[in-house]
Amino acid sequence: MNTIQKEVKEVKLFINGEYVDSSNASMFEVKNPATQEIIARVHEASYENVDAACKAARKAFEEGPWRTMSVSERCSKIRRMAEIIIERKEELASLEALDVGKPYHVALETEIPRAAHNLTFFADFMEKQGGEVYPMDEEFLNYTRYEPVGVAALITPWNLPFMLTTWKLGPCLATGNTAVIKPAEITPLTVSLLGEIAKEAGIPDGVVNVVHGFGVDSAGEYMTTHSDVDLISFTGETTTGKAIMKNGADSLKRVSFELGGKAANIIFEDANLDKAIPVSIRAAFMNSGQVCLAGSRILVQRSIFDEFVSRFKQAASELVVGDPQNETTNMGPLVSEEHYVKVTSYFDIAIEEDSKLVFGGKRPELPDYLQDGYYLEPTIYIQENPNARICQEEIFGPVVTLIPFDTEEEALQIANNVDYGLNGVVWTDNLQRAHRISHNVRAGTIWVNCWFVRDLRAPFGGFKKSGIGREGGHYSLEFFTEAKNICIALK
Ligand code: NAD
Repeated sequence: MNTIQKEVKEVKLFINGEYVDSSNASMFEVKNPATQEIIARVHEASYENVDAACKAARKAFEEGPWRTMSVSERCSKIRRMAEIIIERKEELASLEALDVGKPYHVALETEIPRAAHNLTFFADFMEKQGGEVYPMDEEFLNYTRYEPVGVAALITPWNLPFMLTTWKLGPCLATGNTAVIKPAEITPLTVSLLGEIAKEAGIPDGVVNVVHGFGVDSAGEYMTTHSDVDLISFTGETTTGKAIMKNGADSLKRVSFELGGKAANIIFEDANLDKAIPVSIRAAFMNSGQVCLAGSRILVQRSIFDEFVSRFKQAASELVVGDPQNETTNMGPLVSEEHYVKVTSYFDIAIEEDSKLVFGGKRPELPDYLQDGYYLEPTIYIQENPNARICQEEIFGPVVTLIPFDTEEEALQIANNVDYGLNGVVWTDNLQRAHRISHNVRAGTIWVNCWFVRDLRAPFGGFKKSGIGREGGHYSLEFFTEAKNICIALK
């Protein structure tokens, strides 16, 4: 049962183990995207606040005991954080639904448990790590140690706030680093609680700090230029990644970027449509299409194109758009007015480009109390020109484009004809073709006859403009550690 709170929350900064106010009394408001009601007033971190957070993280790193305590003790505290998240899962899911507009039941059943799993996974994974040993004849012995890098800036977007922050925080803490976290300014509610959750779990003051604010001339920029920050793990837009890279360049900060996507979901004529259609619907419209991994371009072989269009349209028409608090809702509102304006601008672009509207393209009929929410119907276009803007640009909303193709070569050419390369999907019963497509689509993850199946040991990240580096399993541990070679003379 969702126990949603009605009062306007005051969200503070968490610095060196306590919640504090903005030092210059600057505040900003957060709205519920389902209704436009103000749900929170947030303390915006000044430069002094960010400086204090970075210095606290630096002191906690240098002086210990976080870095120097045994791995098992450190990891048991991280696992305790995960337990507290599960104990508070209804509250966290409720806040995530309120803040982002996503269905409460989805947050409760998938995102909050996954956030807890992000922490336990990396705690368990870290505890099982060994290191390499390289003997040199009988005279010398080399071994490798993986040591924490220092202070990490963890900057996350609004679409999966809690899940994506813990995905970074797990490996950051397990390897002995300290963190300054900044959630997106429009969705700070759940991430702000990580401070008290860390404290209750026994994590020392200064190890986990959470600041709030914007990017340019605000907390984001202050963090990414701060001399105490050694590494930046960022998830967000490709253009923001470019700005962060420039800002971090002067002090040579190590970066890991998870950026935008424009995945091709390729449906061959031998695909099992009974499976491909419901999964493609999820891939296009989950979280109202506000997912970096969304299958927002569906490439369909021409021989089955008409059948696919009619069945896909029917399935989209059955999605329930509405109040995120309702059990039956499949799609809530978009996250903000600004984002709503961006997504709906593509409706005009689609018309200018002669795209054919198959379904949606407008606000749905909703009860009066949701009239101010940023709702859109699931929207489907057909576009024969893969160079059209709706086939090239990340719309990040419930808008999907169906593109017909004739041959495998053509499908590959269209799939790769974008700046992004985060992921791809292929539906076929032909084993050889499944492998060929998987090898030749230039993207970091390829799902064959499935979508969004994640093993946290596997590498996750993007080709091309979809990112730099990989997260997951030992890839995350490598990012958050310095490898040290120790060479011992045996004689
Ligand atoms: P965004 O880039 O606008 O913001 C992300 C974060 O960066 C926010 O916390 C924001 O305040 C901060 N920021 C903005 N400008 C900054 C600056 N100059 N310096 C430092 N920090 C700055 O992204 P968004 O709109 O919140 O999220 C949507 C984007 O995130 C989409 O492009 C989506 O594809 C991407 N995304 C990628 C993945 C992935 O794993 N590859 C996952 C989720 C979302």
